[in-house]
Amino acid sequence: MKRRIAIFGSTGSIGKQAIDVITAHPDLFSLEVISAHTQADALIEQARLHRPEVVIITDESKYTIVKEALADLPLKVYAGEKALTEVAPSDVYDILLAAIVGYAGLHSTLAAVEQGKTIALANKETLVVAGDIVTSMATQKNARLIPVDSEHSAIFQCLVGEDPRSVDKVILTASGGPFLGKKPNFLINVKKDHALQHPNWSMGAKISIDSASLMNKGLEMIEAKWLFGLQNDQIDVLVHPQSIVHSMVEFCDGSVKAQMGLPDMKLPIQYALVYPHRIKNDYKRLLFKNYPSLTFESPDYKTFRNLALAKEAMFTGGNAPCLLNAANEVVVDAFIRNRIGFLEMSDVIEKCIEKITYIEKPNLNDYIESNREAREYASSLIK
Ligand code: NAD
Ligand code: MG
Repeated sequence: MKRRIAIFGSTGSIGKQAIDVITAHPDLFSLEVISAHTQADALIEQARLHRPEVVIITDESKYTIVKEALADLPLKVYAGEKALTEVAPSDVYDILLAAIVGYAGLHSTLAAVEQGKTIALANKETLVVAGDIVTSMATQKNARLIPVDSEHSAIFQCLVGEDPRSVDKVILTASGGPFLGKKPNFLINVKKDHALQHPNWSMGAKISIDSASLMNKGLEMIEAKWLFGLQNDQIDVLVHPQSIVHSMVEFCDGSVKAQMGLPDMKLPIQYALVYPHRIKNDYKRLLFKNYPSLTFESPDYKTFRNLALAKEAMFTGGNAPCLLNAANEVVVDAFIRNRIGFLEMSDVIEKCIEKITYIEKPNLNDYIESNREAREYASSLIK
C-alpha cells in the first residue's frame, strides 16, 4: 500500500525536498495534497507536475490565479487558512508533512492531531507555542508526531527500542551558524545577506536567521521538551560546527547514542515518511576519514542572547515560549527588511516577555491572544 502524503508548505525548503523524496519512490508514496501561502506560480508548477488531489493557496488573493491555471486538471483548489484546517482532519492522506514556517502552522497541525492523524512535524514553532496542548491532545487522540527537524529525528532514531524512562539527557548539537565565534562588536553591524549564509544547510529565510542568532537552537530545546516528554534540565546544547553528529542521547547507565550522517534534510524527511522502516537512497554517504576531527564546545550564551532567552522561556513555561516565538517572528521579519539590527532582536524579544502578562497554565485561546499581543507589542518597538 502506498503512503498518501499531504505537504502543508510544499513550496518551501522542506516542502521541495520532501517532494524529491516522494518522487524518488513512486512505488511507496503518492502526493495527494500541496499548499503554499503566496507562491502561486511555484504551487501551480508543482500541481501540474505531480497531479495531487488537493491544492491549497492560503493567500486568498491568489485563489483566482491558481484556480484558472489549473482549470483543465481534475483536482480541487481551495483557498485560505481555513482550507488547511478543513483538509487536515480529512482522509485524503495518510501522513501530513507539516512544513509551514512559524505560528501559521499551528492550527492546521492541531486539527490533524485532533483527528488522530500521523504527522511528520517540521514546523517546530507549533510545539514552541503550544507544546503542552499539542502533545497531550496527541496522546488523547492517538495521533503520532514524527520529528523531521534533524536534531529531533536523531534523538528519535537513538530512542528506537529504548525505554524512554532510561534517558538521562539529550544533547542537541548546533552548527553555530555563520557567526560562530563572533562577538557583539562584530554582530552589531551584520546584515541579512551575511546572516542568511548558513555554512552547512540551505534552508528557508526565517530558520536561517534563527540559526545565525542561535534562536533556532533555543526553539529546538523547547521542541525537544515536548516531543520527548523531558524535564528542562535534561536538555543540553553543544556547538558542533561540522554538523555530522545530529544529536545524542545519554542513558541512565552512562551510555551515549549519537545519530550521524552528512547534513542533508532529505534523510530525516525520508525517515519520517517511511518510519518505522528504512529504505535505500542514493544520497552522498558519510566517510569518517573525511572528518578526522569532530569538535564540540559550549555555546556562547552571552553573545547569542536569543539562545539564553529561549532557554529561560522554557524554564519559565506557561505562555513565555509563545511570547518569545511571536516576538521572534516579528523581529526576524524586521531584520530581513533591514528595519532592525541583529543584536536589537534580543532586546525586543526580552521586552515582550517582560511586558506581556504571564499565564501559568494557558488554554488555546490564551496562546492565540498571547501571540497576538506579543506581535503587536514587538511591532510597536520597531521604528
Ligand atoms: P520556507 O520559508 O522555505 O517555506 C515555508 C512554507 O510555508 C512555504 O511553502 C510557504 O508558502 C508556507 N507559508 C509561509 N507562510 C505561511 C502562512 N502564513 N500560511 C500558510 N503557509 C505559509 O521554510 P522552511 O525552511 O521549509 O521551514 C519550514 C519549517 O520547517 C519551519 O518551521 C522550520 O523551522 C522547519 N525546519 C526547516 C528546516 C530546513 O532545512 N529548511 C530544518 C528543520 C526544520
Ligand atoms: Mg534543526
